[in-house]
Amino acid sequence: MGGLGPIRRATLAMLEGPPGASPPVISYEGTLYRPPSEARSLILQATIGCSYNECAFCAMYRDKRFRVRPLDELVAEIDWAAAQPGPEVDKVFLADGDALVAKPKFLLGILEALRGTFPMLRRVSCYASPQALQIRSVEQMVELREAGLTQYYLGIESGHDTVLEQLTKGVDAAEMIRVANKAQEAGVKLSTMILLGAGGRELSRDHAIASARVVNAIGPRFVSTLVMTPVEGTPLAAADERGEFDHMDPVELAAELREFVAHLELDATIFRSNHASNYLTLAGTLPKDKQRLVETLDAVLAHPDRVRFVPDWMRGL
Ligand code: SF4
Repeated sequence: MGGLGPIRRATLAMLEGPPGASPPVISYEGTLYRPPSEARSLILQATIGCSYNECAFCAMYRDKRFRVRPLDELVAEIDWAAAQPGPEVDKVFLADGDALVAKPKFLLGILEALRGTFPMLRRVSCYASPQALQIRSVEQMVELREAGLTQYYLGIESGHDTVLEQLTKGVDAAEMIRVANKAQEAGVKLSTMILLGAGGRELSRDHAIASARVVNAIGPRFVSTLVMTPVEGTPLAAADERGEFDHMDPVELAAELREFVAHLELDATIFRSNHASNYLTLAGTLPKDKQRLVETLDAVLAHPDRVRFVPDWMRGL
Protein backbone atom coordinates (compact mmCIF):
# COMPACT_ATOMS: atom_id res chain seq x y z
CA MET A 1 0.00 0.00 0.00
CA GLY A 2 1.62 3.21 -0.23
CA GLY A 3 -0.62 6.00 -0.04
CA LEU A 4 -1.46 9.32 -0.92
CA GLY A 5 0.44 12.43 -0.42
CA PRO A 6 -1.84 13.27 2.51
CA ILE A 7 -1.44 9.92 4.11
CA ARG A 8 2.22 9.27 4.07
CA ARG A 9 4.79 11.89 4.85
CA ALA A 10 7.45 12.24 2.25
CA THR A 11 11.07 11.97 3.06
CA LEU A 12 13.19 12.67 0.08
CA ALA A 13 16.71 11.61 0.68
CA MET A 14 19.75 10.23 -0.93
CA LEU A 15 22.45 8.44 0.97
CA GLU A 16 25.78 8.89 -0.64
CA GLY A 17 29.11 7.27 -0.12
CA PRO A 18 32.23 9.15 0.96
CA PRO A 19 33.40 12.07 -1.19
CA GLY A 20 34.71 10.78 -4.47
CA ALA A 21 32.72 7.59 -4.27
CA SER A 22 30.29 7.40 -7.12
CA PRO A 23 27.66 6.48 -7.82
CA PRO A 24 25.87 6.73 -4.43
CA VAL A 25 25.55 3.33 -2.85
CA ILE A 26 21.92 3.81 -1.87
CA SER A 27 20.09 6.06 -4.28
CA TYR A 28 16.39 6.39 -3.78
CA GLU A 29 14.38 6.60 -6.96
CA GLY A 30 11.89 9.46 -6.97
CA THR A 31 10.18 10.74 -3.86
CA LEU A 32 10.35 8.35 -0.95
CA TYR A 33 7.42 7.92 1.44
CA ARG A 34 7.33 6.23 4.79
CA PRO A 35 4.96 6.19 7.77
CA PRO A 36 5.70 8.65 10.62
CA SER A 37 6.72 5.77 12.90
CA GLU A 38 9.48 4.72 10.49
CA ALA A 39 11.37 8.00 10.90
CA ARG A 40 14.39 6.22 12.42
CA SER A 41 14.32 3.15 10.19
CA LEU A 42 16.68 2.20 7.41
CA ILE A 43 14.57 2.49 4.28
CA LEU A 44 15.20 0.16 1.37
CA GLN A 45 13.31 0.46 -1.88
CA ALA A 46 12.53 -3.18 -2.45
CA THR A 47 10.03 -2.22 -5.11
CA ILE A 48 9.50 0.96 -7.06
CA GLY A 49 6.03 2.49 -7.15
CA CYS A 50 2.70 0.83 -6.43
CA SER A 51 1.43 -2.08 -8.50
CA TYR A 52 -2.17 -0.88 -8.03
CA ASN A 53 -1.64 2.90 -8.31
CA GLU A 54 -5.36 3.66 -8.79
CA CYS A 55 -6.55 5.23 -5.53
CA ALA A 56 -8.22 8.54 -6.39
CA PHE A 57 -6.57 10.49 -3.57
CA CYS A 58 -3.03 9.08 -3.87
CA ALA A 59 -0.30 11.01 -5.62
CA MET A 60 2.64 9.13 -4.24
CA TYR A 61 3.61 6.89 -7.11
CA ARG A 62 1.77 8.30 -10.11
CA ASP A 63 5.06 9.13 -11.80
CA LYS A 64 6.56 5.67 -11.26
CA ARG A 65 6.12 2.47 -13.18
CA PHE A 66 5.92 -0.46 -10.80
CA ARG A 67 8.86 -2.84 -10.73
CA VAL A 68 10.68 -5.12 -8.34
CA ARG A 69 14.33 -4.27 -7.86
CA PRO A 70 17.09 -6.85 -8.34
CA LEU A 71 17.93 -8.66 -5.11
CA ASP A 72 21.69 -8.24 -5.59
CA GLU A 73 21.30 -4.43 -5.67
CA LEU A 74 19.45 -4.53 -2.37
CA VAL A 75 22.01 -6.84 -0.78
CA ALA A 76 24.75 -4.41 -1.85
CA GLU A 77 22.81 -1.54 -0.26
CA ILE A 78 22.39 -3.53 2.96
CA ASP A 79 26.14 -4.24 3.05
CA TRP A 80 26.89 -0.57 2.45
CA ALA A 81 24.49 0.59 5.16
CA ALA A 82 26.08 -1.83 7.62
CA ALA A 83 29.50 -0.34 6.94
CA GLN A 84 28.41 3.22 7.74
CA PRO A 85 29.16 4.83 11.11
CA GLY A 86 26.24 5.63 13.37
CA PRO A 87 23.66 3.80 15.44
CA GLU A 88 23.00 0.11 14.83
CA VAL A 89 20.13 -0.54 12.45
CA ASP A 90 17.25 -2.07 14.41
CA LYS A 91 14.28 -1.24 12.16
CA VAL A 92 13.94 -1.49 8.39
CA PHE A 93 11.09 -0.26 6.22
CA LEU A 94 10.68 -1.80 2.78
CA ALA A 95 9.41 0.84 0.34
CA ASP A 96 7.71 1.75 -2.02
CA GLY A 97 3.93 1.45 -2.06
CA ASP A 98 3.24 -2.24 -1.64
CA ALA A 99 6.43 -4.27 -1.31
CA LEU A 100 4.33 -7.20 -0.09
CA VAL A 101 3.17 -7.76 -3.66
CA ALA A 102 6.69 -8.92 -4.61
CA LYS A 103 7.31 -12.67 -4.69
CA PRO A 104 7.90 -14.22 -1.25
CA LYS A 105 11.21 -15.75 -2.44
CA PHE A 106 12.53 -12.27 -3.22
CA LEU A 107 11.33 -10.85 0.10
CA LEU A 108 12.80 -13.81 1.97
CA GLY A 109 16.13 -13.06 0.27
CA ILE A 110 16.07 -9.49 1.58
CA LEU A 111 15.04 -10.63 5.06
CA GLU A 112 17.83 -13.20 5.17
CA ALA A 113 20.39 -10.55 4.20
CA LEU A 114 19.02 -8.15 6.83
CA ARG A 115 19.10 -10.77 9.59
CA GLY A 116 22.61 -11.81 8.65
CA THR A 117 23.83 -8.20 8.63
CA PHE A 118 22.09 -6.37 11.47
CA PRO A 119 22.29 -8.26 14.80
CA MET A 120 20.07 -5.68 16.55
CA LEU A 121 17.28 -5.98 13.96
CA ARG A 122 13.89 -6.15 15.68
CA ARG A 123 11.39 -5.08 13.04
CA VAL A 124 10.96 -5.08 9.29
CA SER A 125 7.78 -3.52 7.93
CA CYS A 126 6.19 -2.46 4.67
CA TYR A 127 3.01 -1.02 3.20
CA ALA A 128 0.51 -3.68 2.16
CA SER A 129 -2.20 -2.82 -0.33
CA PRO A 130 -5.45 -4.79 -0.16
CA GLN A 131 -4.48 -6.13 -3.59
CA ALA A 132 -1.18 -7.49 -2.21
CA LEU A 133 -3.04 -9.07 0.70
CA GLN A 134 -5.40 -10.72 -1.78
CA ILE A 135 -2.59 -12.58 -3.51
CA ARG A 136 -0.54 -13.51 -0.41
CA SER A 137 -1.60 -16.68 1.39
CA VAL A 138 -1.65 -16.89 5.17
CA GLU A 139 1.14 -19.49 4.96
CA GLN A 140 3.32 -17.13 2.92
CA MET A 141 2.72 -14.31 5.40
CA VAL A 142 3.60 -16.64 8.29
CA GLU A 143 6.86 -17.60 6.54
CA LEU A 144 7.69 -13.94 5.93
CA ARG A 145 6.83 -13.02 9.52
CA GLU A 146 9.08 -15.77 10.85
CA ALA A 147 11.83 -14.38 8.62
CA GLY A 148 11.35 -10.92 10.14
CA LEU A 149 8.60 -9.07 8.19
CA THR A 150 6.41 -8.51 11.21
CA GLN A 151 4.37 -5.37 10.46
CA TYR A 152 2.25 -4.06 7.59
CA TYR A 153 0.76 -0.59 7.11
CA LEU A 154 -2.68 -0.89 5.55
CA GLY A 155 -4.78 2.02 4.30
CA ILE A 156 -8.35 0.97 5.04
CA GLU A 157 -9.42 4.57 4.32
CA SER A 158 -13.14 3.86 4.89
CA GLY A 159 -15.49 1.11 5.88
CA HIS A 160 -18.27 2.54 3.74
CA ASP A 161 -18.71 0.86 0.36
CA THR A 162 -19.81 4.03 -1.44
CA VAL A 163 -16.79 5.92 -0.13
CA LEU A 164 -14.44 3.07 -1.01
CA GLU A 165 -15.85 3.08 -4.52
CA GLN A 166 -15.45 6.86 -4.81
CA LEU A 167 -11.84 6.45 -3.70
CA THR A 168 -11.29 3.71 -6.30
CA LYS A 169 -9.82 1.59 -3.56
CA GLY A 170 -10.47 -1.58 -5.52
CA VAL A 171 -12.12 -3.50 -2.68
CA ASP A 172 -15.32 -3.15 -0.70
CA ALA A 173 -15.56 -3.26 3.08
CA ALA A 174 -16.17 -7.00 3.28
CA GLU A 175 -13.12 -7.72 1.15
CA MET A 176 -11.02 -5.28 3.19
CA ILE A 177 -11.94 -7.19 6.35
CA ARG A 178 -11.26 -10.55 4.72
CA VAL A 179 -7.78 -9.70 3.46
CA ALA A 180 -6.76 -7.82 6.61
CA ASN A 181 -7.78 -10.79 8.70
CA LYS A 182 -5.49 -13.02 6.64
CA ALA A 183 -2.60 -10.90 7.94
CA GLN A 184 -4.05 -11.04 11.45
CA GLU A 185 -4.25 -14.83 11.21
CA ALA A 186 -0.63 -14.91 10.10
CA GLY A 187 0.33 -13.06 13.28
CA VAL A 188 1.45 -9.91 11.48
CA LYS A 189 0.95 -6.61 13.30
CA LEU A 190 -1.33 -4.31 11.32
CA SER A 191 -1.08 -0.55 11.43
CA THR A 192 -4.23 0.74 9.76
CA MET A 193 -5.32 4.14 8.52
CA ILE A 194 -8.72 5.80 8.13
CA LEU A 195 -9.26 8.91 5.99
CA LEU A 196 -11.34 11.57 7.72
CA GLY A 197 -13.45 13.64 5.36
CA ALA A 198 -13.42 10.97 2.67
CA GLY A 199 -17.21 10.88 2.42
CA GLY A 200 -17.78 14.63 2.61
CA ARG A 201 -20.53 16.11 4.78
CA GLU A 202 -23.26 13.95 3.33
CA LEU A 203 -21.67 10.64 4.29
CA SER A 204 -19.64 11.89 7.24
CA ARG A 205 -21.47 10.06 10.04
CA ASP A 206 -22.04 6.89 8.01
CA HIS A 207 -18.39 6.84 6.94
CA ALA A 208 -17.29 7.22 10.57
CA ILE A 209 -19.54 4.44 11.88
CA ALA A 210 -18.85 2.06 8.98
CA SER A 211 -15.10 2.66 9.34
CA ALA A 212 -15.28 1.85 13.05
CA ARG A 213 -17.16 -1.37 12.22
CA VAL A 214 -14.46 -2.46 9.79
CA VAL A 215 -11.68 -1.65 12.25
CA ASN A 216 -13.60 -3.55 14.96
CA ALA A 217 -13.88 -6.57 12.67
CA ILE A 218 -10.12 -6.57 12.13
CA GLY A 219 -8.84 -5.61 15.59
CA PRO A 220 -5.52 -4.19 14.37
CA ARG A 221 -2.61 -3.34 16.68
CA PHE A 222 -2.68 0.29 15.52
CA VAL A 223 -5.28 2.58 13.99
CA SER A 224 -4.67 6.14 12.95
CA THR A 225 -6.69 8.83 11.24
CA LEU A 226 -5.56 11.22 8.54
CA VAL A 227 -7.40 14.01 6.81
CA MET A 228 -8.11 13.58 3.12
CA THR A 229 -6.60 16.45 1.17
CA PRO A 230 -6.57 16.87 -2.62
CA VAL A 231 -3.05 16.53 -4.00
CA GLU A 232 -2.13 17.83 -7.43
CA GLY A 233 -2.20 15.26 -10.19
CA THR A 234 -4.83 13.04 -8.61
CA PRO A 235 -8.44 12.41 -9.66
CA LEU A 236 -9.43 13.88 -6.30
CA ALA A 237 -7.66 17.15 -7.11
CA ALA A 238 -9.40 17.21 -10.51
CA ALA A 239 -12.74 16.71 -8.75
CA ASP A 240 -11.82 19.52 -6.39
CA GLU A 241 -11.11 21.84 -9.32
CA ARG A 242 -14.55 21.02 -10.69
CA GLY A 243 -15.99 21.99 -7.30
CA GLU A 244 -16.98 18.39 -6.57
CA PHE A 245 -14.92 17.78 -3.44
CA ASP A 246 -16.72 18.65 -0.24
CA HIS A 247 -14.11 20.28 2.03
CA MET A 248 -15.06 19.73 5.65
CA ASP A 249 -13.84 22.21 8.22
CA PRO A 250 -11.86 21.24 11.38
CA VAL A 251 -14.98 21.21 13.57
CA GLU A 252 -16.88 18.95 11.16
CA LEU A 253 -13.86 16.65 10.99
CA ALA A 254 -13.69 16.59 14.81
CA ALA A 255 -17.36 15.53 14.87
CA GLU A 256 -16.58 12.76 12.40
CA LEU A 257 -13.61 11.64 14.47
CA ARG A 258 -15.78 11.65 17.60
CA GLU A 259 -18.29 9.30 15.93
CA PHE A 260 -15.49 7.05 14.73
CA VAL A 261 -13.85 6.75 18.16
CA ALA A 262 -17.21 6.37 19.94
CA HIS A 263 -18.03 3.35 17.78
CA LEU A 264 -14.68 1.60 18.21
CA GLU A 265 -14.89 -1.63 20.21
CA LEU A 266 -11.36 -2.90 20.46
CA ASP A 267 -9.42 -5.06 22.92
CA ALA A 268 -5.88 -3.76 22.57
CA THR A 269 -5.30 -1.16 19.90
CA ILE A 270 -3.19 1.97 19.92
CA PHE A 271 -5.00 4.96 18.43
CA ARG A 272 -3.29 8.04 17.02
CA SER A 273 -4.25 11.08 15.00
CA ASN A 274 -0.68 12.31 14.85
CA HIS A 275 -0.19 12.39 11.10
CA ALA A 276 0.69 15.88 9.88
CA SER A 277 -2.57 16.15 7.93
CA ASN A 278 -4.66 16.24 11.13
CA TYR A 279 -6.14 19.38 12.71
CA LEU A 280 -6.15 17.76 16.14
CA THR A 281 -3.49 15.51 17.61
CA LEU A 282 -4.87 12.80 19.87
CA ALA A 283 -3.51 9.49 21.11
CA GLY A 284 -4.55 6.72 23.40
CA THR A 285 -4.81 3.00 23.97
CA LEU A 286 -8.18 1.37 23.41
CA PRO A 287 -10.32 0.47 25.17
CA LYS A 288 -8.65 2.11 28.22
CA ASP A 289 -8.64 5.66 26.83
CA LYS A 290 -11.82 5.57 24.74
CA GLN A 291 -13.94 7.54 27.21
CA ARG A 292 -11.25 10.19 27.61
CA LEU A 293 -10.89 10.57 23.84
CA VAL A 294 -14.66 10.87 23.34
CA GLU A 295 -14.91 13.41 26.16
CA THR A 296 -12.02 15.40 24.71
CA LEU A 297 -13.76 15.53 21.35
CA ASP A 298 -17.08 16.42 22.98
CA ALA A 299 -15.32 19.32 24.68
CA VAL A 300 -13.85 20.39 21.34
CA LEU A 301 -17.30 20.32 19.75
CA ALA A 302 -18.88 22.18 22.67
CA HIS A 303 -16.36 25.02 22.54
CA PRO A 304 -14.58 24.97 19.17
CA ASP A 305 -13.70 28.65 19.59
CA ARG A 306 -11.38 27.70 22.49
CA VAL A 307 -9.51 25.06 20.49
CA ARG A 308 -6.23 25.66 18.73
CA PHE A 309 -6.63 23.55 15.61
CA VAL A 310 -3.46 23.05 13.60
CA PRO A 311 -3.56 25.83 10.98
CA ASP A 312 -3.61 24.79 7.33
CA TRP A 313 -0.18 26.25 6.69
CA MET A 314 1.29 23.90 9.31
CA ARG A 315 -0.46 20.79 8.11
CA GLY A 316 1.41 18.32 5.97
CA LEU A 317 0.08 16.23 3.16
S1 SF4 B 1 -2.60 1.15 -2.77
FE1 SF4 B 1 -3.57 3.11 -3.26
S2 SF4 B 1 -3.01 4.45 -1.55
FE2 SF4 B 1 -1.61 2.71 -1.51
S3 SF4 B 1 0.17 3.41 -2.72
FE3 SF4 B 1 -1.17 2.29 -4.09
S4 SF4 B 1 -2.42 3.87 -5.04
FE4 SF4 B 1 -1.50 4.78 -3.21
